[in-house]
Amino acid sequence: MHESKVLLWLPVAGLFGALIGSFLNVCIYRLPRRESIAWPGSHCPRCSHSIAWHDNIPILSYFILAGRCRHCTERIPFRYPSVEILNASGYVGLLWFFGPSWVAVAYGLLYSALLVVAGTDLSHKIIPNVVTFPGIIVGLVCATTVLPLGFLGGMLGVLVGGGILWLLAWASPYLFGKEGMGGGDIKLLAMIGAFLGWKPALMTIMVGSFLGSLVGLTLIAAQVIKREDYIPFGPFLVCGALLALFFGQSILDWYQGFLAG
Ligand SMILES: [Zn+2]
Repeated sequence: MHESKVLLWLPVAGLFGALIGSFLNVCIYRLPRRESIAWPGSHCPRCSHSIAWHDNIPILSYFILAGRCRHCTERIPFRYPSVEILNASGYVGLLWFFGPSWVAVAYGLLYSALLVVAGTDLSHKIIPNVVTFPGIIVGLVCATTVLPLGFLGGMLGVLVGGGILWLLAWASPYLFGKEGMGGGDIKLLAMIGAFLGWKPALMTIMVGSFLGSLVGLTLIAAQVIKREDYIPFGPFLVCGALLALFFGQSILDWYQGFLAG
């Protein structure tokens, strides 16, 4: 099945991913504003003109319109084509890595949820509960049914992933003299743990903390931000989770081989 037939389906996965990416943009814009994601249809936030279907083609329309609203020339944030491209390439990658399978579908759900979380955390410093709570449940259902993890593996992922961040959040005022992470990060990690299990959840925390410190310290050194400024942690956790999703098993195998000598 792999190779030739999968190759044929990759463009389909890409197109589907771009379409879903378009919907994820609606979620990223509306969820932090507590607006309905179903109604009304897409419209320009400045001039309220509704966006015609031919101006709403994922990825392409942004470039055809040169990044501006057709009616009022308001700039369209580059986030829109970025999310569409990322979701398209994510679905292509999942199909390539995991083949045409329910595993790929389950990971597709996680992947898109992670993109929404990264988007809302970057733009509003919010990780919406309406993504992470259902995400934990869906992750456990997938773990029980289609993923190799099983229910117990998923549950352990929720407890270890969410639990460690909860401990860190609780301890950081004592350890570092300031608030560490928010409740959103805890629920995010619980969702990641439900889909991936406890080892990849740990890997997510380690990679996320490393990337977060690296970027934070660089921005402080470059005087872009001040030491006391808040940096959202969610996008770094999302990077860690994506690494764990695609390469987690290879990294764990390598590490265990390394420990065994
Ligand atoms: Zn407009």
